[in-house]
Amino acid sequence: MSNRKPIIAGNWKMNKNYQEALEFIQAVAAKVPSKDKVETAICAPALYLKDMVKEEGSNLRIGAQNVHFEANGAFTGEIAPAMLQDLGVTYVVIGHSERREMFCETDESVNKKTHAAHAAGLVPIVCCGESLEQRENGTTNQVVDAQIKRALEGLSLEQVKNTVIAYEPIWAIGTGLTATDEQANETIGYIRSVVGREHGQEAADAVRIQYGGSVKPSTVAGLMAQPEIDGALVGGASLDAESFLGLLEF
Ligand code: PGA
Repeated sequence: MSNRKPIIAGNWKMNKNYQEALEFIQAVAAKVPSKDKVETAICAPALYLKDMVKEEGSNLRIGAQNVHFEANGAFTGEIAPAMLQDLGVTYVVIGHSERREMFCETDESVNKKTHAAHAAGLVPIVCCGESLEQRENGTTNQVVDAQIKRALEGLSLEQVKNTVIAYEPIWAIGTGLTATDEQANETIGYIRSVVGREHGQEAADAVRIQYGGSVKPSTVAGLMAQPEIDGALVGGASLDAESFLGLLEF
């Protein structure tokens, strides 16, 4: 067992209306297990963050799903890191594969956003992961190596230690296909070795690396039993209150 604190985060993506978001948080906040056991977050649509933070209670924390890297200025439609921090938001997902594929997110913008998040006191959840074609070609390690090397470039040791990485094979997101526990553990171990090579053993030992991709209450325990896996980033199964609470029982 490592002494890394597990972290389970829901990623709601573009789902739920305002009322549903508030009802969810009111239903789960008091039932979330102690943060001594597991860190827990919901990454919600930006419009709901302020009111969700007010309801988060003592063990649940709120995250955003994206952020801009500049502090302010003429960036119509964007949200600055300090704006999230000001509302009491704790985490921000950066470089999710949906943003990379559909919204032109690059390794360079992921790196800038990761720096900006740390500068504003937010904890970045930095995503990486290979496509099905890359997995089948045998280039998974090369892909995640390049993504993570670039994402964390220039961060201080403390910042790397306080970054969360989410390994999410694209072929497993929203498809019902999951990496096996062993596949996930192996690639996450490789990612940890990349952090060690780039930032030293202390960083590699401390950085928390989640698995994401069709995680469900019924599959979370097997994943969490793997030595390299420190948590999960969960889309579909985080939308229902019962299911979300089920994810925290591993
Ligand atoms: P999923 O999404 O759990 O619905 O596969 C995971 C994610 O995209 O973070």
